[in-house]
Amino acid sequence: MSDQIEPIGEILLCSDCFKDEGLRIDAANHGAEQPGNCPNCQSAHGSKLTLNHVRSLAWRFFVSGTTVRGEYGAAPVIQVNEQHYGQSDIVPSAWLENDVRLIEEAAKIGMFHYGPRLWMVGEVEPLKALQNPITRPQIIERILKEYPESTLSVGSKFYRLRLDPERPADSSEYDSPPAAFSGKGRMDSPGLSVMYGSQDLDVCIHECRASTEDEVYVATLKCKRDIRLLDLTHPLEESDSVTEFESLDMAIHMLFLARSHSYDITRDIALAAKDAGYDGVIYSSFFSLIRTGTHPFETVYGMSVRRIHPDRKQYVDATTIRNFGLFGRPVENDLVSVECVNRLVLTQVGYQGNFGPVEY
Ligand SMILES: [Zn+2]
Repeated sequence: MSDQIEPIGEILLCSDCFKDEGLRIDAANHGAEQPGNCPNCQSAHGSKLTLNHVRSLAWRFFVSGTTVRGEYGAAPVIQVNEQHYGQSDIVPSAWLENDVRLIEEAAKIGMFHYGPRLWMVGEVEPLKALQNPITRPQIIERILKEYPESTLSVGSKFYRLRLDPERPADSSEYDSPPAAFSGKGRMDSPGLSVMYGSQDLDVCIHECRASTEDEVYVATLKCKRDIRLLDLTHPLEESDSVTEFESLDMAIHMLFLARSHSYDITRDIALAAKDAGYDGVIYSSFFSLIRTGTHPFETVYGMSVRRIHPDRKQYVDATTIRNFGLFGRPVENDLVSVECVNRLVLTQVGYQGNFGPVEY
C-alpha cells in the first residue's frame, strides 16, 4: 500500500524512527519502499519518508486525528503549519514527545492548538434559524426557492434493501412502510411514508446498517414515469459577499451530515417539498464522508474548501454520495415497479482509519 513517488525526493525519516505505534503504522503504510539506511535512525527496514510524506503524515495524525464532531460540523483541535515552526504549543504523551520533535525538525513545521472559525462547529445563520421552529419555515421557503429540481427519468434503476423481510419474494415488502409505522427516519414523519433508495448499492448497505448476522434482500426498482426530486445535493452558487457564517449551502451540507438530532428539521423539509408537488428529495448520505474518505469541512486558512475550490462542482461530486427519499408508497402508487429481488450475503464489512494522539 506504499505511495511510490518517482523520482523520490530526499529521504528525511523512516517509519522505524517513531515510537508512537499509530505514527509508525501510518508511516509504514504511506512511505516509500527504498533500499538503504534511514539517515536518522539508520534502520534499513522502515518505509522511507520524504518532505511530502512527513507533511501528509503530520496532517493525518495531528489534524485529522484530533478532529472532533459537534452537534453540527467538526473541527480539528490541532493544526500544523510552517508559520508555527519553532513555536509549537502542544503537550503530547511522553512516548510521542520525541516523534513530534523529529517531525517538526524534518518538515520545518509547528503544531499548535487551533481555535476553529466558529462556522466549522455550526455557527451558520441559516442552520441556526432551521433549529428554531419559529424561524424554520422562512428558511425552508428559501430552500424550496433556491435548490433546483432534478429528475429520475422513466426507466432508471435504483436499489432498496430490507433486513429480514417476512416474505422476501413479495414485491410489497419493498414498498415504504405504511404511514402508521413512519416517523423514525431522516425524512419520514407520522403520516408521511418515505421510501429510501440509492443508485449506489454500497450506500444502501451502509444506510440500513446491515451486519453479517442479518438476512438481507435487495430489490431493484425501476421508475415508471419521470420522478421529480428536490435536489439538496446541488452546490448552491452564492455571491462572494456571503461568508460561511451566512451560507445556506453550508447549512444544508452540515444538516445532512448530522445525526438523528437533526431529523425534526429534515422531516419538515420533506413535508414542505411534498406540499410543493415534488415526488421526493435527493440528499447527501450521512455516510458521504466515510464512503469517499473526505475530511469533514476541509479548510484552507479557515475558509471552506467546498466553497472556494476552483473546480467546485467536481469537488462536491467527488465527496457526495447521493441518496433519495420518495414520498408515499411508490410501489402501491404505481410510481416505481419491483423488477428483481436478490438475497444479499454479506461476506465482508470493511473499516479503514487513521490514527491520532490521545493527549495534546
Ligand atoms: Zn528512521
